[in-house]
Amino acid sequence: MKYPWQQANWNNLTASRNNNQLSHGLLFHGASGTGKLDFAHHFAEWLLCEQPDNDKACGQCKSCQLLQAESNPDYLILAPEGESRDIKVDQVRSLIDRLALTRHSSGTRVVVISPADTMNISASNSLLKTLEEPPPGTILILVTDRPSALSATIRSRCQQIRFDLPAKSEALQWMAQQQLENPELLYRLVAGAPLAAVALVEDDGLEIRQKLFENWQQLAQGKVDPVTSADMWLKTGFKNKANLPLYWVSSWIIDMIRTLQGAGIESMDNVDYAKNLQQMALQTDLKALYDLYDRVNETLRMSESPVNLLNLVEGLLIIWSGLKRRAA
Ligand SMILES: [Zn+2]
Repeated sequence: MKYPWQQANWNNLTASRNNNQLSHGLLFHGASGTGKLDFAHHFAEWLLCEQPDNDKACGQCKSCQLLQAESNPDYLILAPEGESRDIKVDQVRSLIDRLALTRHSSGTRVVVISPADTMNISASNSLLKTLEEPPPGTILILVTDRPSALSATIRSRCQQIRFDLPAKSEALQWMAQQQLENPELLYRLVAGAPLAAVALVEDDGLEIRQKLFENWQQLAQGKVDPVTSADMWLKTGFKNKANLPLYWVSSWIIDMIRTLQGAGIESMDNVDYAKNLQQMALQTDLKALYDLYDRVNETLRMSESPVNLLNLVEGLLIIWSGLKRRAA
């Protein structure tokens, strides 16, 4: 499906297509959690439909029915397979073979590559020629949160379509329609990305955040052991969303720094923890919080590649629990 905040992109792309001006390489980029991939599927469906209207595919023609059965040979998806984090060169090669073999003389074919930034160097090199000169009727849609991670050559071969976060009022309204509780808090926790809010709620993210925050407080009070705690963080917090707990920690620290810089509770992101964070901040030294913040960011960067996450988290919790504190 597409979302209300994507209507302008939809109008532009469908108009280009109707005027035969749609480029055969498209790069959808923008913040995570805005629904780019859903949009890509929806658009692919529309491109392949035999009798689409302005807004959507018909849902009835042969192509639409095959799509619903996930067996439309003209719709190809390229994504990391199995446990792999990467799209591998073999996958790109077999895609190219398939595009060359199946000759639908007049028909449209759509390839969605997502997340496109997971193509490793050889994979993205072997895609270049196809991207430059795809077989007739073929449209390639690359989807990514991190366009800068794509090679400049890949980017230059695509028409770039930017997906922005919705305006706050639009996001809040949509989240309320999805019957998410506490939309205001969620909006802040996910930095304005509505689909990230849905995912957070579905994955019990708020409960997990609560559990980790309680542990974070107990660490500050010296009531629990950081090494045992790190183990719990890994098992509970990092299950589905690899880095999410690190973003939470980072936002707790930012709120504490804001407090020490004199900001009031109303400027905090973690509105539900405002009082506790304020209290912890007042017991801590500003410089130490800045150092800890740097450390969290470094951990976030390192956790992008395969590393021993347990060691990293352990290191963080040890520092946090060992900070000098004064009575508030
Ligand atoms: Zn149709």
